[in-house]
Amino acid sequence: MAILIEPWRIPEEGKDMAGEEPAAVLDLEPGSHITADGPIVYALHLQCVSRELIVRGKVGCRLRFECSRCAETFALEVGETDFFAERAVENVHDTVDLTDEVRETIILAFPSYPLCQPACRGLCVQCGINLNKERCGCSQPANESWTALSGLDRIEVRNGRTQKEKIKK
Ligand SMILES: [Zn+2]
Ligand SMILES: [Zn+2]
Repeated sequence: MAILIEPWRIPEEGKDMAGEEPAAVLDLEPGSHITADGPIVYALHLQCVSRELIVRGKVGCRLRFECSRCAETFALEVGETDFFAERAVENVHDTVDLTDEVRETIILAFPSYPLCQPACRGLCVQCGINLNKERCGCSQPANESWTALSGLDRIEVRNGRTQKEKIKK
């Protein structure tokens, strides 16, 4: 489980390298709300010029995130289409391991505030119902401009979760 590059096999004009790695290399925290939904996929172009290995390409992975507003999980492709890595090659016969760079790049691409859809309606603050799926009789805040304010949005989510937990019990 590693993305290994052998600089001595790279011709002067460069070389393409594509493949997959198990998502386990992302080392996602057990019990976190993010789970893998496919392998890490990469398509790279390698070049080795005067003992400098230059790698460009794209890396990505399909993962499941939990929506920050409605707590439903949803699949999302995250990654980087401008992946770039540079390594000094001290000995051409050394194998270069790019796993760490690829892992960090994918993790940095995780959304900090994942939403199942940009217009997710979240949970009802009062009854905890998922407003994307159902409507409830609770009186909704008259001014709906809160969707534009992420601060208020977060309070809404927290209340929604509390409500949801209460219902489960
Ligand atoms: Zn949602
Ligand atoms: Zn309600």
